Amino acid sequence: MRRRKGESTVRWERDVPLARLARYRIGGPADRLARPASIEELRSALADLGGAPYAVLGTGANVLIAESGLRFALFILGGRFGELDLEDGAIRAGAATKLPALAGAARKSARVGFYFLEAVPGTVGGGLRMNAGAREDWLWHRVEWAEAVTPDGELVRVDASEANPSYRSVALPDEWIFVRARFTAEEGDPRAVREEHFGFRERKVRDQVYDLPSVGSTWKNPGAPHGSAWEVVDEVGMRGARIGGAQIAERHSNFIVNLGDARADDVLDLMVETRRRAHEQLGIWLEPEIRLWGFEPDRLAEVGAR
Ligand SMILES: Cc1cc2nc3c(=O)[nH]c(=O)nc-3n(C[C@H](O)[C@H](O)[C@H](O)COP(=O)(O)OP(=O)(O)OC[C@H]3O[C@@H](n4cnc5c(N)ncnc54)[C@H](O)[C@@H]3O)c2cc1C
Repeated sequence: MRRRKGESTVRWERDVPLARLARYRIGGPADRLARPASIEELRSALADLGGAPYAVLGTGANVLIAESGLRFALFILGGRFGELDLEDGAIRAGAATKLPALAGAARKSARVGFYFLEAVPGTVGGGLRMNAGAREDWLWHRVEWAEAVTPDGELVRVDASEANPSYRSVALPDEWIFVRARFTAEEGDPRAVREEHFGFRERKVRDQVYDLPSVGSTWKNPGAPHGSAWEVVDEVGMRGARIGGAQIAERHSNFIVNLGDARADDVLDLMVETRRRAHEQLGIWLEPEIRLWGFEPDRLAEVGAR
């Protein structure tokens, strides 16, 4: 098909139900959604928006979407963003590459330092934004460079010192869309790498929740002297608590699971009650690790989110 100069190269879909696209299986529709398959298409889509707000959805493994849906535009990256290449001493991956695929490629090619991505759902783009990792290690430790597209369509390359990563965050503008990264990946002993991966995976799958939809850890760990968020949830008696179709998991009390018919407000109400009790009984304000999209400001304030 021939396109006129300045005409968009991406197709915008309207009123797209998001519950089936997001891991939680919760949430209303996106007003408009585009699935750019290349940097050129992404630039074209950004130009279409003319400065209007937008966000990127990976697999939604860290996002709770409101039932009322999203008034801003949404991107889901596909096509060339799914690249995954083994290089000498490195792995290069597009932002749409799944984190388990990156972990699997590292394991199979005996590359050191990716064990902590085993059984972490999501994409490389979401992992870069959330600085995905385990207690001891995280994704930005492996980043040689990452590339992102700015709202103006400019392609920028940053290294870890510029990103200034910390626990589940990076100091880069929220509007930047990660498109790919190169990770340092030295070869190690194949057997040791395999054992490290499988050992980590086994412990994670045993201790966390994989049989029901969730978005992982609900709260950030509050740190000393309160320890882990799950300990706080336990201490205030919320393990196993249920509202509507949402439940604080019996197996891991920092996970809130969708029992099948959970509404976004069920999850939020559990969070509000947990946070209220933690403040009343322990004097701390828990801070959400998950991202909350499409909620009214006063609802967000109730759970300490923006
Ligand atoms: C069972 C389970 C276990 C988990 N275990 C862990 C764990 O051990 N460690 C851990 O850190 N997390 C864990 N998580 C949370 C989740 O897997 C990570 O946060 C993951 O990085 C989310 O990736 P995603 O692609 O699904 O991002 P999404 O949830 O879709 O998005 C998360 C954020 O990243 C942004 N984003 C997505 N793609 C891009 C992009 N290309 N450019 C810029 N921003 C982008 C989104 O806009 C959003 O703000 C777990 C979740 C589950 C359900």
